[in-house]
Amino acid sequence: MNTDIIDYISCRLREKLGDDNVAFSMVSNGSLINSEIIKKMNSKWNIRKIQITLDGTEQEYGRRKKYANSNNYFQTVIKNIIQMADNGIYTSVRLNYDANNLQDILSLIEYLNSFLPRTKYLSVYAYHLYGNSKVQTLDITKQDCWFAVQNALVNAGFLTPLKAFALHQRTTQCSACAVDGFVISPNGELYKCTMAMDDNNAKFGDIWGGITNYSAIEQWCNPSLEERCFKCEFLPICQGGCRASAFSFNYTSETCFVQKEWVDDLLRERVNYLKNASPR
Ligand code: SF4
Ligand code: SF4
Repeated sequence: MNTDIIDYISCRLREKLGDDNVAFSMVSNGSLINSEIIKKMNSKWNIRKIQITLDGTEQEYGRRKKYANSNNYFQTVIKNIIQMADNGIYTSVRLNYDANNLQDILSLIEYLNSFLPRTKYLSVYAYHLYGNSKVQTLDITKQDCWFAVQNALVNAGFLTPLKAFALHQRTTQCSACAVDGFVISPNGELYKCTMAMDDNNAKFGDIWGGITNYSAIEQWCNPSLEERCFKCEFLPICQGGCRASAFSFNYTSETCFVQKEWVDDLLRERVNYLKNASPR
């Protein structure tokens, strides 16, 4: 965690906007956070929300994160999650899963259920990981995995059934396509999407010099859609899918929204929960 960069961004942006109350959110693995940093998040940086990712229980977490110094920060991260929520920072725990760590993620949900306090400052959700290659391998277990994880989150009380099995209308593809959506890398470079951070051509500036490559931004904020989207009944809830997949560079294999292939089953599950919840 480069605290100098966070200092610079939060102070400079508030100064530029002439508003000391501007709040920030950030994404972190949570490993380098400590009490002093949490104090700064509140008193200096005005960080209201943070997203922390977990990839499994302790052993699987260490295997997947593969920290350069070989430490396993699992217990530190859990402690930090609790401490941030205790200090009034909205902490969203994202569980990264795929077919290879499904069982472990289900065990992690049980562990978190017994361990995490229930407070409005703490939420847990899951995200199905996808590859960064254009070569799409058909993951036939994806639907089963998704339902298993969503149901586990419901059973643990981290999600209500209506939140777990919902479709929402969107106004834009994602924050990468919004003109005011930026990703700041740990060394201060500016991108539109984390999937593109390996591509020097996708960099459009840095926090010191500002925007220097407007054409890189325009490619992401271009409102045109692919032909197939115009005929797609899911357009209102998808708005064109993942923009990163539209580039010729191998950013990602993901195209449409993740539940597209099992929308009927998702809605069936929702209706079942509603039926069971309604008074007889
Ligand atoms: S689901 Fe796929 S085809 Fe339909 S709007 Fe989204 S990206 Fe386009
Ligand atoms: S990966 Fe796709 S959906 Fe996610 S921020 Fe990037 S462009 Fe948007």
